[in-house]
Amino acid sequence: MDAGLTTTTTTAAPQSKSRTYRITPRELDTYQACAFKFAADRRGKQQKVWQPQPSSFPLALGNAVHDALNQANRQAMKRGSLPSADEVFDRFWNRSRFGSTEQEVEAAYLARPMVEQYLTYVTDNDLEILASEQFILTPEMHIGEGIYLIISGKLDVLFRRPGGALMYQDHKTGSQLPTPDILEYALSSAAYRGLVRRLQPRAETILISQRLLSTGAEVTVDLSDDVVQAAKQQMADLVRAMDADPAMISAAFQPSENEQCAWCPHQSVCPLLAAGSEEGVAL
Ligand code: SF4
Repeated sequence: MDAGLTTTTTTAAPQSKSRTYRITPRELDTYQACAFKFAADRRGKQQKVWQPQPSSFPLALGNAVHDALNQANRQAMKRGSLPSADEVFDRFWNRSRFGSTEQEVEAAYLARPMVEQYLTYVTDNDLEILASEQFILTPEMHIGEGIYLIISGKLDVLFRRPGGALMYQDHKTGSQLPTPDILEYALSSAAYRGLVRRLQPRAETILISQRLLSTGAEVTVDLSDDVVQAAKQQMADLVRAMDADPAMISAAFQPSENEQCAWCPHQSVCPLLAAGSEEGVAL
């Protein structure tokens, strides 16, 4: 991260008893929404009992659009210009993501305006593409005695805007965006900012943005230093709680009702839902 948490270097390797926790921006958002789910997800992965969610049409569509835009972005980074929408569908549209020809045809019908919108948006706003679907790790950040944190994640796309500001943008193929306030205080926003800083250490301005590919609606925030510092403190507190309680069953990992409850895979063991059922609350 760019300030606050202390980073180590390869010449200052942690001692043998050190514990390093690797967390993704997506996991941080899960933690913010429901610490119980964050803990249950991680336990499942550690015990290798995690079952991935079954594939769905929206997921396949999102993945296929991300694949296609990534290929288009990479071509722009190599050749200096984006391909046309026709070229994107001829060369980069991955039909194998879909279970049937009917699904693929429907997906291509839905995806075309998203791709066209994106290509127009980048061109009209004179955005320079600096990175696309790039996986980045922060260095180890010192949290406490023998405790380190690494943030790892993939950037959908990183732009340089005219004037020099960098903008990390998350493509959304669904139908909703967060409000500016929610995006500003999302732990993932501070995490992505840190990942961009890793790529572009001298950047003066790093904006965090989400954009709906279907409509072009966009929300973009510039995190203040206070927000970044508060986010780092929350991340450090989380890592300390994980270190103090490796099973993650303490009060620091309580459930919180949120919009993910409807499709949460931990409903059957969630204390909040169990309590609601006892009181006769219909789900
Ligand atoms: S059902 Fe809701 S409250 Fe319970 S673990 Fe899942 S996300 Fe958290």
